[in-house]
Amino acid sequence: MTFETRLFINGQYEAGQGEALPVYEPATGKLLAEVASASSEQIDRVVRLAHAAFDGWSQTTPKLRSLTMFRIADAIEAKAEALADIEATNAGKPWIYVKAGELANVADVFRFFGTAIRNMPATAANGYRSSKHTSLMRRDPLGVIASIAPWNYPLLMAAWKIGPAIAAGNTVVIKPSENTPLSLLFLASILAEHLPEGVVNVVCGNGPDVGQTLICHPLVRMISLTGDVRTGRAVLKAAAGESIKRTHLELGGKAPVIVCDDADIDVLVETLREASFYNAGQDCTAACRVFVDSKIAQVVTDKLSAMISTLRYGAPHEDNIEFGPVISAAQRDRVAGFVDRARTAGTDVVVGGRAPDRDGFFYEPTLIAAPIEAEVVQKEIFGPVVTITPFDEPATALGWANASEYGLASSVWSRDANRAMQIANRLEYGVTWVNTHGVFATEMPHGGMKNSGYGSDLSMQSLLDYTQVRHIMLAS
Ligand code: NAD
Repeated sequence: MTFETRLFINGQYEAGQGEALPVYEPATGKLLAEVASASSEQIDRVVRLAHAAFDGWSQTTPKLRSLTMFRIADAIEAKAEALADIEATNAGKPWIYVKAGELANVADVFRFFGTAIRNMPATAANGYRSSKHTSLMRRDPLGVIASIAPWNYPLLMAAWKIGPAIAAGNTVVIKPSENTPLSLLFLASILAEHLPEGVVNVVCGNGPDVGQTLICHPLVRMISLTGDVRTGRAVLKAAAGESIKRTHLELGGKAPVIVCDDADIDVLVETLREASFYNAGQDCTAACRVFVDSKIAQVVTDKLSAMISTLRYGAPHEDNIEFGPVISAAQRDRVAGFVDRARTAGTDVVVGGRAPDRDGFFYEPTLIAAPIEAEVVQKEIFGPVVTITPFDEPATALGWANASEYGLASSVWSRDANRAMQIANRLEYGVTWVNTHGVFATEMPHGGMKNSGYGSDLSMQSLLDYTQVRHIMLAS
């Protein structure tokens, strides 16, 4: 397999002039490619070129942008097999899930924002100071958006950022994670066929150097990050530098799953099969901590551990697998560190809890019965590890959930709709599912509260986030 490893600047591929960074295959641990980082001069140039491209792109009609987005979506579907090969290999995901699921979603995101831009809400012009002063509101694009993407869904997270940004008329310089740059570099060739030069650019490199140089550039008007809370803080500092920049932060999560004593346990367990372990649990919405009514705690623990024992993991092209390795040796060791510290503290590792003896960065699906104060219940692990903690009253579970530093995703399980809604309404989380978990709709906003950040991905809300509302008054 050969990969595109050059940067994509102003409609053309060009070699990175900075440090070459290794990219590994998670399923084998072998080197896949080396990708040369962008130099400071290349970052400066790409932002200036994106700034120049904004002049033309921002003045195109919503109709033209919409049709362009539809063509991009069609082209992504036409190249889905090649894209899925690269994504599955570089991110260590089951190939079939990438092709049938994630890539379909990537195309859908481009189509959705292509539709949304022609339906952006507009208010009627009105005279407020006098009948001779006509006021109207415009929603205009901002300029160059610096987008910083993570490694867990390299293409999908890139689409969540590029889609609303270019639909609204902005231009983008996006930096993929240093672990997973390959699929986005390939996608750039598809974008190049449909977009004017400079509208979308891809630069590579690590966060603290290349990422930091990009987000600090004075011509960048907005920084959009999906990543760690620590990286969110770095973005906020950069946004308060020489030029004030808008920020959009999708950060970590630690999703509570509140299970009342009247929950349908079989549906819960079958749902968590995917909601907890899809992508080896490397998902900011992963159902990773189960708070269960003590009356049913034992039966839920037994059924969960039985389900986990049947999970099938393996390399991307193996038959019938549900998830793959984690992204890197460092991430596997981090996950193992959490579980080992829990074990040392005397916490009950019910099932799993080891890295299997095989090549690649695999970790066994794991269930830990842990008290609320345990590190494994409080900190984001980002691996195939679920904790279970019993409560006596649902109010206690609600308190535990809301005491978390995170506020991204959550779920409530009860057959009593009133009871479920009472808990759901009071959860300080950007998304709450009732009797399901991890189901997304492109039309609905996705975003966090507290240390999980702010701003919405997906939906009309996201399109609005990438625009500035302006007042124009005409005196006659
Ligand atoms: P990360 O923060 O380490 O890296 C994310 C990106 O930020 C990478 O491209 C990295 O190079 C860049 N970066 C790092 N430091 C930087 C700096 N100082 N300046 C500029 N860029 C910098 O996160 P990760 O390990 O790639 O991804 C996992 C994290 O992302 C988890 O915390 C996860 O919860 C979060 N995440 C959140 C969502 C959401 O929707 N809220 C979705 C996916 C992932």
